[in-house]
Amino acid sequence: MKFRIVAGCAALGFALAASAQNLVITNARIIDGTGNVIERGSVTVKDGKLISVGAGGAAGSAGTRIDAHGMTVMAGFIDAHRHLIRGDADAWLKDHAGDNMKSFVNAGFTTVFSMGDDPKGILELRRRLKTGELAGPTLYATRVIPLSGPMPRPAAAPRGPFTDLARTDPARPPDRPETAPPAIPDEESRAAVRAAKQEGFDAIKTFMLATPGGPEGHTLSVIVDEAHRQGLRVFTHATAVQDALAAVNAHVDVLAHTAHIGRLEEDESARRTLLDSHVPMVSTLAVFIPHFDDQNRPLFRDGGPFPMPRPLSSGGQGPVNARILWEGGMAYAYGTDTQWDPRASLADELRALNLVFSPRDIIKILGPNTAAAINKSGELGTLEPGKNADIVLIDGDPLQDVFNLTCVVLVVKDGKVMVDHRGKHRAATD
Ligand SMILES: [Zn+2]
Repeated sequence: MKFRIVAGCAALGFALAASAQNLVITNARIIDGTGNVIERGSVTVKDGKLISVGAGGAAGSAGTRIDAHGMTVMAGFIDAHRHLIRGDADAWLKDHAGDNMKSFVNAGFTTVFSMGDDPKGILELRRRLKTGELAGPTLYATRVIPLSGPMPRPAAAPRGPFTDLARTDPARPPDRPETAPPAIPDEESRAAVRAAKQEGFDAIKTFMLATPGGPEGHTLSVIVDEAHRQGLRVFTHATAVQDALAAVNAHVDVLAHTAHIGRLEEDESARRTLLDSHVPMVSTLAVFIPHFDDQNRPLFRDGGPFPMPRPLSSGGQGPVNARILWEGGMAYAYGTDTQWDPRASLADELRALNLVFSPRDIIKILGPNTAAAINKSGELGTLEPGKNADIVLIDGDPLQDVFNLTCVVLVVKDGKVMVDHRGKHRAATD
């Protein structure tokens, strides 16, 4: 199997956002995200919404006609776990926000959920995107709220030669704290949630690290209760299975990572609890497992060092746990937890997902499951009449080679053509 080199289809440049158009995309392979594939069909768009998705040429439909030349259309991509702002927020907004936002749309991402950024900066970025000052994806912002006072840090355990971040994750023994941190009064936690609502945040983010007899589970349940009263949902970071259990027991809405510390194949009760909670889980597999080269070869093979002295390279249990939960029916969703280029980040996450998921699975993860995780199933994630006209055109068939998802050549957001590089790509089937 030949894998496409990501750089080979990187589309550069950016078409400025036009006003909402009535569009007819014809001659397309349509992967609608619900499981249907239409080999030659059309998608029609009116007033920023999808009007029809079906076989044939949509004869008689009004609007600008876009010939897909047999390329694939899918719903715009969603990253449910990103970090955006680097360094000083004002400087980043001034110098980097514009290019950064374009890089998301160029890669096909029409919706991005920030899982923790400078609070003022991320709200300002969202404002600029909403008003059209900046062209880019729809952005949602979370406010981080603590579950306890400062966590006692045990003396660093002796380490081998590879001190990557996944090994020094405080959720991983022997670094896991064995004494409880101070509690935060309930009213303080509730006030923090109400303040986040007042400031205009879309959701709450918390970090679960459950200590013996500690306050984290109780505090999280208080935050969830107040958040739900305020109409906010709660995303929780949990990298160990026991922390994911503490989070679902506090009735959080989304697990922001795949729990990769702890083996679900050896823990039927944990598996059952996670599945019975019906809490969706966001992938973020690639930041925790060894990277691969652009031919998808593991870098530690063929003379490379093993284990690999790269950051976050010891979380290989993540894909196994993900597959176990998938088999049990978990609504598994897409997110990267990265700060690097969105297209490269997509390729990295696909390499990790590709270890345990078929292209068909990955399309479901990327589309409807991620829309559901961010509570936007009514608007996003599939190509169905009535949903937002967030559409990507892909050179190649991702069901044949999932890495074709990195070959986005045209992007429509809310009915506006934001990127159009069809001219630079050979028609797939003409
Ligand atoms: Zn994160």
